[in-house]
Formats: sequence, C-alpha cells, structure tokens
Amino acid sequence: MNFNLSAETRAWRDELRAFLQAEIPPGFAGSDDFFDREDQVPFARELYRKLGSRRWLTPAWAEEYGGMGKTAIEQMVLNEELAWHRAPAGGRLFTIGITGPAMLVHASPEQNARYLPRMASGEDWYCQGFSEPESGSDLASMQTSATRDGDEYVIRGQKIWTSNGHVADRMLLLARTDQGAAKHRGSAPSSSTCRPRDHGAADPEHRGAPRLQPGLLRRRARAGG
Ligand SMILES: Cc1cc2nc3c(=O)[nH]c(=O)nc-3n(C[C@H](O)[C@H](O)[C@H](O)COP(=O)(O)OP(=O)(O)OC[C@H]3O[C@@H](n4cnc5c(N)ncnc54)[C@H](O)[C@@H]3O)c2cc1C
Repeated sequence: MNFNLSAETRAWRDELRAFLQAEIPPGFAGSDDFFDREDQVPFARELYRKLGSRRWLTPAWAEEYGGMGKTAIEQMVLNEELAWHRAPAGGRLFTIGITGPAMLVHASPEQNARYLPRMASGEDWYCQGFSEPESGSDLASMQTSATRDGDEYVIRGQKIWTSNGHVADRMLLLARTDQGAAKHRGSAPSSSTCRPRDHGAADPEHRGAPRLQPGLLRRRARAGG
C-alpha cells in the first residue's frame, strides 16, 4: 500500500503552507487547548474566514456545503498544517469536528444546506451544550427541556462546562423533548440559533427563556425521538 500523498494533495498542501506562512505572524503561538486565548479571537475569526472563503476549512465536505469534495486525508493535512504553524483553534473542534459531522450523518439535506455552509465559511462558531450541573458523565440524566410552541421550541434548563460558549455564535444543544420517556430516550440535539453568550443560564423562572427555531429537533421529534 502506498501511504504517500497524491501529487494533487501535495500541491494543495504547499499552497496551504504558503498561505499560513504569509498569514500567521512570525512568533505567533496559538493556545495548546481546543479554544483560543481571548486576545487571539479577533485574529482567529479573520484567519478562519479567509480559510473558509477558499473552501480550505472543510476539505472533506461536499462542495454544495462549502467544502472541497475531497477526503479525510485532506482534512488531516489541514489539521497537521494548522498545528505545525501554531494557528489559533478558531472554534474548529466543536464546529468542524463535532457539529458538522453529526449533522452530515443525522440531519436532512435542507438542514445541512442551512447550517453547514456557514460553518465551512468560518462565519459560525459552535459550542457544545450537553453537560448540566447534575448531569456530567451520565448524560442520559440531563433535564433541560425543549417544549414545542408553534414553530419554535422554548428551552428551559442550565448548561455548564460550555467551552467556547462566550465566543460561539451557535450551540449544539442537547434538550429533552419528551419528559415522560425513559431517561435514555426522549432527547434530541438541536443546532440552536440562539447566541449562547446573550442568554447565560436559563431556568424555569427565567421569563426570557431562549426560543429556538427547530434545528435537528424537528426531525427527531417527528421520528419519535
Ligand atoms: C475542560 C473541560 C471542558 C469541557 N467542555 C465541555 C463542553 O464544551 N460542553 C459540554 O457539554 N461538556 C463539557 N465538559 C464536560 C465533560 O465533557 C464531562 O461531561 C464532565 O466533566 C463530567 O461530569 P462531572 O465533572 O460532573 O463528573 P461526574 O459525571 O459526576 O463524574 C465524577 C466521577 O465519577 C466517575 N463516574 C461517573 N459515572 C460513572 C459510572 N457510571 N461508572 C463509574 N464511574 C463513573 C467519573 O469517571 C468521575 O471520576 C468539559 C469538561 C472539562 C473538564
């Protein structure tokens, strides 16, 4: 088996390298973590928009969703080059690494057409709203509810450990749509349209509970969650 990159992939990698060398200031050191230092966020936003405008943020995604239509090999080349150049994290883990791939597997083509291109362009950064004060490893015990109200879901609950929540544009939110179901059922992920940083914690007494346009929720709710 030949493990070498193809000539085409090597040529793209050289182009990507030259771009990163030109764009990342000498001596810049991105955080070793999944998220950026506060003062690095504006630069990260700019860099990731530029990568996205070239379709280089999501090489393995289909062209219709803003990708290059390539393979996981090119996605790995991108990850290696970003790490080598100590590029900022840019919300990549929760956006390109978790939410996007989950949607590619579970969401409808309409939902993907709505949400994925803004991830691929670097516009939307996601965070992950799973953990709760009384629900860590045992995620099936989570209590945040999503109650249908017309075309929207009203979300009540509290999330913690929300890495990148203060800079994210959207949240991959896990909420319970069926309170009566067994604890490992009755929940659905939603690619929420709320800006987590605008809401903070929401509890049942919180009169301004976030109202979300149904994302993945609608599909799962119809399927019986
Ligand atoms: C830096 C950091 C960033 C994070 N970012 C996010 C995020 O962005 N979004 C998000 O949703 N969550 C996030 N988390 C939460 C994380 O994913 C875990 O869900 C959470 O830390 C575990 O919950 P807990 O700390 O309440 O521990 P608990 O779940 O209370 O566990 C306590 C201890 O009990 C053990 N334990 C638990 N259940 C069992 C069992 N059934 N059998 C044996 N042992 C068990 C655990 O291993 C642990 O040692 C983050 C956590 C950290 C530390």
